Amino acid sequence: MRLAQQLPPLSAAQQKWARRAIFTHAAFATKQVAWCSDCGAIFAPIDNDKRCVCPKCGAKLKVERSRRLKLDENVYFTQLSVIGGYQVVRHYEARRYSRRGQATHHTYCEVVQEWIDECGHRTYIARTIPCWGFSGGWSWCSEMEIRQPTSYGYAVGKYNIWANICPGAEVLPKLRKHGYTVRCQTIAPSTIMARLLTDNNAETLIKQRQYSMLAQYIRHGGYSRLRHAINIATRNGYRIKDASMWCDYIELLDYFNIDTHNAKYVCPANLRYEHDKLMHRKRIIEERERVAQERRRNLAQLESCAKAKAQYKKHKGRFLGVVLTQGALHASVLPDVKAFMQEGEAMRHCVFTNEYYKRKDCLIFSVRDNKDNRVATVEFNLKTFEVVQCRGKANSRPKEYDEILKMFQQGTEQIRKIQQYKAS
Ligand SMILES: [Zn+2]
Repeated sequence: MRLAQQLPPLSAAQQKWARRAIFTHAAFATKQVAWCSDCGAIFAPIDNDKRCVCPKCGAKLKVERSRRLKLDENVYFTQLSVIGGYQVVRHYEARRYSRRGQATHHTYCEVVQEWIDECGHRTYIARTIPCWGFSGGWSWCSEMEIRQPTSYGYAVGKYNIWANICPGAEVLPKLRKHGYTVRCQTIAPSTIMARLLTDNNAETLIKQRQYSMLAQYIRHGGYSRLRHAINIATRNGYRIKDASMWCDYIELLDYFNIDTHNAKYVCPANLRYEHDKLMHRKRIIEERERVAQERRRNLAQLESCAKAKAQYKKHKGRFLGVVLTQGALHASVLPDVKAFMQEGEAMRHCVFTNEYYKRKDCLIFSVRDNKDNRVATVEFNLKTFEVVQCRGKANSRPKEYDEILKMFQQGTEQIRKIQQYKAS
């Protein structure tokens, strides 16, 4: 706390940077008038421009078509200081109040300091969060005190602030030696710093300037598996920009036994394209495996159902001659249990796996077109004489649905006769 009293305040240059760098720069324009979010000045409207320059303050503005009269913004930025052998990561909350036709008002307040010692331990000095909670801001009038990061049940992670770093950053010599640079902004600076002081892998990655990979590593680990590939990429001057996709891609290379020691594969010019290509290949293989597995399971089921086969022949055998037709479509009863398996596999539904051949009052038809392609599978109930289900490929609704229904309405009498003949 004594050292904290001696920390340098925000310099004029840093404040100027904050005004320029972290807020929105917009011109809110209607047909009649436009105004500058940076200085509040009102000026003549701009015709169809995407960008313009404020005639009063000279700021470059993005034009927004809006009737907005005010804009309040609340943004963090971070200052890096060194004092007494500590790296201090200082987070400021900056507020800007812009009003049309009035001077813009800026205020800053330091809200959190993260003190990192040379062993990577962190201590927090911070203000409080208002007890009404979720407002998101800090109590600017509360004291800066040493606080526990876990003391706010409703605001876990409140101290993990990741914001732009203002110029004039001071970095602990040991951190510099371990490769820290403010250019690495793929993850919160204090997270990188604490890690760099204790972890050689992090140091290697930052020195290789693989910043996206560093963030991926800190979040998910798994460096040893990828070390050789990262080294090859670095040696070939390949910067990994999207580390999570690249890691996926290396895993896919491994899956296909493609050499991950070969720069040709490790450093793809179009990562997304190569990734998606392999992903697609893998999906096809997985689908093929799934089908083969299902086939094995089905065959085992077919082997073990001798009793059901005999039962099916006995109960449904007399319907085998039934053929219903309607236009180009015709429907016939599945002749045996094996046909259930074939129907289920071809149509990708559960007519076989759910053992429809065992159900007593249920008659299953395969509906096909004039080229004998399967169109739908129909469950017909022998008690109520109606269609219970009519399913296309993968349980979809076939586009000939109405036609099929009509076919069964007309064919009901034929089926009823066979059923009643047996009964009598
Ligand atoms: Zn202006």
